[in-house]
Amino acid sequence: VKSTLATLPVPSSTHSVAYNAPPSGRANATFVFLARNSDIDGVAAAVQSVEDRFNRRHGYPWVFLNDEYFTEQFMFRVRLLTDAPVFFGRIERDAWNQPDWIDEEKARKGRLKLMSQRIIYGGSVPYRNMCRFNSGFFFKHELLQQYRYYWRVEPGVKYFCDLSYDPFKMMQEQEKVYGFTISLMEHKATVATLWQAVKEFIEQHPEHIDPNNALDFVSDDAGANYNLCHFWSNFEIADMDFWRAPAYQAFFDFLEAKGGFYYERWGDAPVHSIAAALFARRDQIHFFRDIAYRHDDFEHCPAGEQYAANRCSCNPDTSFDYTDHSCLRRFENLFS
Ligand code: GDP
Ligand code: MN
Repeated sequence: VKSTLATLPVPSSTHSVAYNAPPSGRANATFVFLARNSDIDGVAAAVQSVEDRFNRRHGYPWVFLNDEYFTEQFMFRVRLLTDAPVFFGRIERDAWNQPDWIDEEKARKGRLKLMSQRIIYGGSVPYRNMCRFNSGFFFKHELLQQYRYYWRVEPGVKYFCDLSYDPFKMMQEQEKVYGFTISLMEHKATVATLWQAVKEFIEQHPEHIDPNNALDFVSDDAGANYNLCHFWSNFEIADMDFWRAPAYQAFFDFLEAKGGFYYERWGDAPVHSIAAALFARRDQIHFFRDIAYRHDDFEHCPAGEQYAANRCSCNPDTSFDYTDHSCLRRFENLFS
């Protein structure tokens, strides 16, 4: 069905507020948005939110990735929402599909097991493809090669406050490698043997562990067990050179060989979080307190002076920050 949208004229200005030329010296950075064509409504809402609260003053580019070709309508609707450069890319099969060497019978049993426990996405192969892609492949995509920092965006997310500074430049100036807004506990069944693999990796590659690591964020017993804390990766502002470096490459290869992305349902969030906790200096992990953000049912909303100064629209009383399943208190206790 051909959409009527495609026949509408493109407005000359897509914003009620005039686009300001970006301040000289943007960081080498981009937004990264993995999406399906069917996600378009949530994609449009998310792009609009990011543009309104931050990017219309900066003009950072957008990179959209998909395992299929984006439709004309998808691209048309996205391009309306920003004056910044927009790129649309397709993901190579090898970076997306379940590898041939995965034992499908074992993978199927793993899916049934998680389904019987009613774990979200427990039976989904595409979801596993997505988690593996976000763990080991997105930063290798040709459209991202030229960039160092990225800000991950997902369908339906919302930003509630103006952002008064450039977080990419902050990351660069302060040598940060990983930034988050929400941290929480993972479903244990999805990562049943992940920590065992992590321990084996540490034993074989002690040279990759930073002496000032943040192991105590992900383990309460000096590394014996995983405490399930992770940074929620639907929002990330991070340094792709960290993922591209030898430590993370060796780590991903090691995890990939275990097959846990398919035999269990290892998420890119615990994988990224554990890597950041082990291979970076602890002061290189950053909590973006001033970025008010919602994904599905959880939101981070700042209180205090920032709330009015940045014209926030969220409710600080419903912030996830210090609820039972949040790991923020642990992070702050350890890192302040
Ligand atoms: P959740 O946030 O864990 O509930 O998972 P989502 O459904 O939001 O998926 C995470 C991200 O991956 C979103 O940006 C989705 O648009 C994207 N995604 C998930 N599955 C697929 C898929 O099969 N193909 C593509 N192209 N993107 C996907
Ligand atoms: Mn999501």
